[in-house]
Amino acid sequence: MENQIRENIAARRWVIFAPGRKDRPNDWGKKPSKRADLPAHKADCPFCPGNEAKLPGIILEKPAPAGDDKPWQTRVVPNKFPALVSAGDNTRTEAGLYVTMSGYGQHEVVIESPRHDRDIAQMSPAAVSVLIETYHQRYVDLMRAHNNMMTIIFRNHGERAGTSLIHPHSQIVVTGIVPRYVRWREEEAERYFDQWGRCVYCDILAFELQQQKRIVIENGAFVAFVPFAAEAPFELWIMPKRHQADFGSITDADKDDLAHVLQETMGLLSSKLNDPDYNYVINSAARYKAGEPQLHWYLQIQPRLTTQAGFEIGSGMRINPSLPEEDAAFLRAE
Ligand SMILES: [Zn+2]
Ligand SMILES: [Zn+2]
Repeated sequence: MENQIRENIAARRWVIFAPGRKDRPNDWGKKPSKRADLPAHKADCPFCPGNEAKLPGIILEKPAPAGDDKPWQTRVVPNKFPALVSAGDNTRTEAGLYVTMSGYGQHEVVIESPRHDRDIAQMSPAAVSVLIETYHQRYVDLMRAHNNMMTIIFRNHGERAGTSLIHPHSQIVVTGIVPRYVRWREEEAERYFDQWGRCVYCDILAFELQQQKRIVIENGAFVAFVPFAAEAPFELWIMPKRHQADFGSITDADKDDLAHVLQETMGLLSSKLNDPDYNYVINSAARYKAGEPQLHWYLQIQPRLTTQAGFEIGSGMRINPSLPEEDAAFLRAE
């Protein structure tokens, strides 16, 4: 069966069906669980240099800095087991009572380093800057295509976070639809803007900076903090101080500041929480919303320290056993 998107018409939620993803390779059966025990290069890893024959292609490659002995710094490649594929379009089809569309979209992998064992926490800020630049370049290019409505950049770290390969990588999924969850976030921000005439995220940031209780790291252009209503222990938001709806609008100078905050944040999580599994995602504006005064992009990190269970499925409400102020203080402590 080809990839398909179906709508749950009762809740107006789209679900992606990608049967080919069942065949993904999995590193975890044979894992050395500690990052320190990983080799710098692994002979059968498709993302390690020299194994290009295992890749479906190379979309983009960033060269290593001068003087480095590595052939490249980051690579973007097509996902071999894509959730969405660029064949097809956004046409909806009625299927009796239900609605379906083709599995249109794009799915890419960002190989973050030629080193098998070098995660963001161990990278130099300069290397993380190249990673941010890679994200940005693909983001801008992908959002140019007429059918592309959302570009989601995310990273799954560890088995509980859903990654199948250990080699440090992120993913980019482009969808031809704006999911209801994103619409709902947009609508709430719009409501706030209509009432107060201000961006709710800018207001949150100003209040957090004044309170300082939940701030973990701050530099010139970015702040990392535990949100007041964090949904999971040690959830963190890294947010630009400047109002900006779209990740595509980030300036070159700000990319370096983001790289520093991201690298430091990952370093803190790794050292203080013993390299926890986590997901991060860049929440950015949908196409055609890039210049909105009420939307504000941010990078959201959720460590996988607890499991969602029955109550969460039934209510859509999360139970967080950990207080944001205490989490922030723990991460800040020397
Ligand atoms: Zn590798
Ligand atoms: Zn704002």
